[in-house]
Amino acid sequence: MARCSVRYSICPVLPEAHQYEVCLTVERPDPEGQCFDLPAWIPGSYMIREFARHIMSIRAEHKGQAVALHKLDKHTWQAAPVKGTLTLTYRVYAWDLSVRGAHLDQSHAFFNGSSVFLRVLGQDDEPCSVTIQLPQGADYRAWRVATTLPVQKVRSNGSGEYLAAHYLQLIDHPVEMGQFQWLEFEVCGVPHAIAVTGRVEFNAERLCADVQRICEAQIRLFEPNGEAPFSRYLFLLTVVGDGYGGLEHCDSTALICGRDDLPRHDEMVSTHGQPLREGYRTLLGLISHEYFHAWNVKRIRPLDLMQDDLSEENYTRLLWVFEGFTSYFDDLALVRTGLVTHDEYLTMLARTISGVWRGAGRHLQSVAESSFDAWIKYYRQDENAPNAIVSYYTKGSLIALAMDLMIRRKSLGEQGLEDVMRQLWQNFGQTGQGVTEDALLQILQDVHGDSMAEFVATCVNSCEDPPLAELLFNFGIEMSWRNSDRMPWLGCKLVADGAEVKIAQVMSGSPAERAGLSAGDMLVALDGLRVTANNQEKALMRLREGQLHQVHAFRRDELLCVDVVPDAPKAEQCVLSLRSPVDLPIRKLRQAWMGAH
Ligand code: ZN
Repeated sequence: MARCSVRYSICPVLPEAHQYEVCLTVERPDPEGQCFDLPAWIPGSYMIREFARHIMSIRAEHKGQAVALHKLDKHTWQAAPVKGTLTLTYRVYAWDLSVRGAHLDQSHAFFNGSSVFLRVLGQDDEPCSVTIQLPQGADYRAWRVATTLPVQKVRSNGSGEYLAAHYLQLIDHPVEMGQFQWLEFEVCGVPHAIAVTGRVEFNAERLCADVQRICEAQIRLFEPNGEAPFSRYLFLLTVVGDGYGGLEHCDSTALICGRDDLPRHDEMVSTHGQPLREGYRTLLGLISHEYFHAWNVKRIRPLDLMQDDLSEENYTRLLWVFEGFTSYFDDLALVRTGLVTHDEYLTMLARTISGVWRGAGRHLQSVAESSFDAWIKYYRQDENAPNAIVSYYTKGSLIALAMDLMIRRKSLGEQGLEDVMRQLWQNFGQTGQGVTEDALLQILQDVHGDSMAEFVATCVNSCEDPPLAELLFNFGIEMSWRNSDRMPWLGCKLVADGAEVKIAQVMSGSPAERAGLSAGDMLVALDGLRVTANNQEKALMRLREGQLHQVHAFRRDELLCVDVVPDAPKAEQCVLSLRSPVDLPIRKLRQAWMGAH
């Protein structure tokens, strides 16, 4: 096979200084002066990150001679015109232990191509190759490479040459290097693997068994015959003391979890009736979420994001579908596969409902607006976020729940939102066409029988709450609200800051706001008695509804003294309970939705 005319080579040259060296060879550079750039954001994470800021040094060469490079803007370089092969060599600083960036030290290497591979402008549709090298030295002899990049010629440890059909494919396959634990299993005949990085001992057999069940359920949701859209799939899982995160790719996902989130050796392969530990359940939910994205957003894509311009923000009003629906189907897979019971699932749903209803921001911002403004709002939350924004993840998942229940009620359990997903997969995923809101409304109508335009207008494009209590009632589920601690309501969130107590958030319309307290204020005394991180709970128990209390707080270095009058306890905690017994038709509806167990 002929060599690609664009070739990358990457080596973790200085692990202890967190530096990769990348060499980029372009055989046919633009005769006017070849331009190169690095993405400003990574697909799946809607925030400008300006990865070019981590390039420490860069030089260009042609036939052994230095070629001048000019910086055109924050992430674009142009080389002086040359005839024939141009080579760029540059260093990238990698000290971001997240699923979105690049990281390197003596223990492992992880990178997304969007952090390390410069795009060759004008040649980004061409195939390219990348040679992945391991660090030099005896300490790194046991390292291996894990990635889903298509292999050209590699050694048994995975180092060597890989290929990509074009630039966007090149940066859609994150790479892990190190001494990871390697777990393998098959789902519907397709090889799956989990590369686990980090110091951790856990029950690998159980993890594989549970992940396998989830993957099979997701594959069959889209293709009942069990046909997966990829020929192999890889989970790159980094385990840290405490952490959480995931980023989806076409054939793989990068994940971060806490050490205690993995199943212990004494937690045997799951049998129905043993509740999952919360941390492990959260990890399985995350795995389920990112895997579902292999269809929903990676292959079924919003038309607005198909321009693939990574140099600036790309706007879509549909993240409530691509993140919200995914957030709905992630946990739904856990209950349908029997990994959690109906009761546990309802507790999880109730927690989501409580979280959404608690934020006054949902009255100001719709999930369509939240999607559009993800770049400056959802991804850049400050202390005012609960008052000003709504999450297209959590409210989006409740929109999905409402749609699912409406379809199920009307079709008497014969159809559900999964039929909408299947239609989206067939009409858009498999054809490569982009999804628009109109196209989605049409599919919803085809599956539901009636138009859902009114529901979308009020609950998606405007700020209404979906009518969940009424919908859940049809499935034999009562929705109620309670106050868990019966404490009078101040409407501020307090956090320990060392031995002191800081106000982290003040809710709109709350007694704390009326009193003039603000996020960032340090609470020092209540009714003349000192408040500390140790005694804050006791101190708050002295609050009485409707009574005037004196609060001392520091704002910066200035002492404030304000009067606050707490409101009645707020019933902010949603409770969902199964009505029992229920008639057979309701039980059937419920089982068609949550699974028959
Ligand atoms: Zn997601």
